[in-house]
Amino acid sequence: MENNYKKIIECFCHKCGHNTKHRILFSITKHSEDNDDFWWSTEYCIAECCGCGSITFVTLSNDESNIDYNDDGTAEFVTKYKTYPYQKLIAKEVDDIWTVPSKIWKVYRETLRALNDECASF
Ligand SMILES: [Zn+2]
Repeated sequence: MENNYKKIIECFCHKCGHNTKHRILFSITKHSEDNDDFWWSTEYCIAECCGCGSITFVTLSNDESNIDYNDDGTAEFVTKYKTYPYQKLIAKEVDDIWTVPSKIWKVYRETLRALNDECASF
């Protein structure tokens, strides 16, 4: 296990409810092999929010499909941050929908869960 205790990242804090600075307590990195056709790397981290002190699990993922270009045309990898158990909600549940038929309510809740877990693609 790697120890990146001084490394600071910014990611979503489920307790603060927004992005905050987090100190990485422990991490381990997995990546593609040299002969693989597709290059990827994922760093699995246990991190502590610098604001409230809560602990979260974070993955930092890079792969060759997530490249952005600067104004001068230089390629730069875009790191995807994902926190567990909670992510920033894309859609919040509407209150007081008790008058909606149960089948529609179940579909509504399942759709919200898929959106917020980033299982849906558009
Ligand atoms: Zn926090």
